[in-house]
Amino acid sequence: MAGKRAPKKETSAAAGTGARDIGIDVPLPTTSCTDPKCPFHGRLSVRGQTLEGIVVSTKMQNTVVIEREYLRFIQKYERFEKRTRRLNVHAPPCLGLQVGHHVLAMECRPLGKTVHFVAIHNQGVAG
Ligand SMILES: [Zn+2]
Repeated sequence: MAGKRAPKKETSAAAGTGARDIGIDVPLPTTSCTDPKCPFHGRLSVRGQTLEGIVVSTKMQNTVVIEREYLRFIQKYERFEKRTRRLNVHAPPCLGLQVGHHVLAMECRPLGKTVHFVAIHNQGVAG
């Protein structure tokens, strides 16, 4: 149970799209793509941190900006203030990310000067 990674889990249900098992417990995309930097249909491997965020811009090609909110404690006022951080995330076309979507992003090799995360799950517009 602990430590060791299971050598081979049950194979994917969505084998129709030819998606690769990336070893992370997320649903496979329902559509396919030809992006070489797609963890499911390309050769990109994911490792490291997994982060959640909300898409705030899709103006770049195959890259989105996600925003993450966090709380920082201010000692003087004994209260938390809300802070945000933005992160550039590679967006494989098969996920169909739009502004407002919640996404799960995972660390990968550097894909550009500011991009070292890739979206692995489109959680849609959650409440
Ligand atoms: Zn893909």
